[in-house]
Amino acid sequence: MIKKYLQPVRFLIQAFFMAGIFLSFLPFADNVGRMIFLSVVFLGVFFCGFICPFGAIQDWLGWIAQKLRIPRFKVPPYIQVYLQCSRYFFYALSTIGITFFFLSARFEFNHGVFLGAFEWITAGTIGLFLLLAIFTDRPFCNYFCPKGASLGLLSVMRLVSISREESKCVHCHLCDKACPMNIMVEQSDFVRHPNCINCMKCICACPQDCLRFKLLTIKQQKGKTK
Ligand code: SF4
Ligand code: SF4
Ligand code: SF4
Repeated sequence: MIKKYLQPVRFLIQAFFMAGIFLSFLPFADNVGRMIFLSVVFLGVFFCGFICPFGAIQDWLGWIAQKLRIPRFKVPPYIQVYLQCSRYFFYALSTIGITFFFLSARFEFNHGVFLGAFEWITAGTIGLFLLLAIFTDRPFCNYFCPKGASLGLLSVMRLVSISREESKCVHCHLCDKACPMNIMVEQSDFVRHPNCINCMKCICACPQDCLRFKLLTIKQQKGKTK
C-alpha cells in the first residue's frame, strides 16, 4: 500500500526544502522549481505540493491546528468558485509590474526572510497569512499567490493526473474534504484543475482506493473534468 507512505514522504521532502531556507545548503527552492518548470505541463504542480516552503508551512500549521482541535473552516464551493479567481487577478497585476506588499510574502519567505533583509511589512504579511493558515487550508496558495496561478495555468493540459474510478466510488466526499485547494474531486472523472497542487491528499483520503495518479487515457480526456 504505497498510499500509506505518500504523506510522510511528502512531509520529508517539504522539510528538506524548508531546511534549505535556514541552512542555505541548497540553491533556494525556487531554483529547484525552475528546473522542474517544464514538468508542470505534463505532471502538474509538484512544486507547490512538495517543494515550496511557504506552502509547506501553511500545511504544517493546518496540521497542528487540527491536532489541537482548533476550529477550522472550508470556504463553501459557491464562494470558492469566485474567490479562487483572485490569485489570477494578483498574477495579472504582478505581470504588468504593479505590486502590492503582500505579493512579496512567498518570495521573501522562500528566499531566506529569516536570514536577513526583513521588513516589518513583509513580516506582518507573512504573519497574517500564517495566522489565517491556522483556520483554513493554504489561504495564500488559494487566493493570492501569483506563482501558484502561473504554474496552475500551465498545468491544465497535463497528461498525468488524478483519475477517479466511478464504479468504485461511494460518493462519500472525503476526497473533497481532504483537498486543501477546495477542488471538488468527487464531481469529476479526473482532476485537471489549475488549483491542484499534487499534494495527493485526496488519494490518501479515499477509502475505496478509487483515486489514482496516472496517465490519462484518451477516453478520460474526453470525459468530465473539474
Ligand atoms: S501557490 Fe505559491 S505559496 Fe503556495 S505552494 Fe505554490 S508557489 Fe508556494
Ligand atoms: S473519497 Fe473516494 S469514494 Fe469517496 S467520493 Fe472521493 S473518490 Fe469517491
Ligand atoms: S485534487 Fe488532490 S492532489 Fe490536487 S490539490 Fe486537491 S487533494 Fe491535492
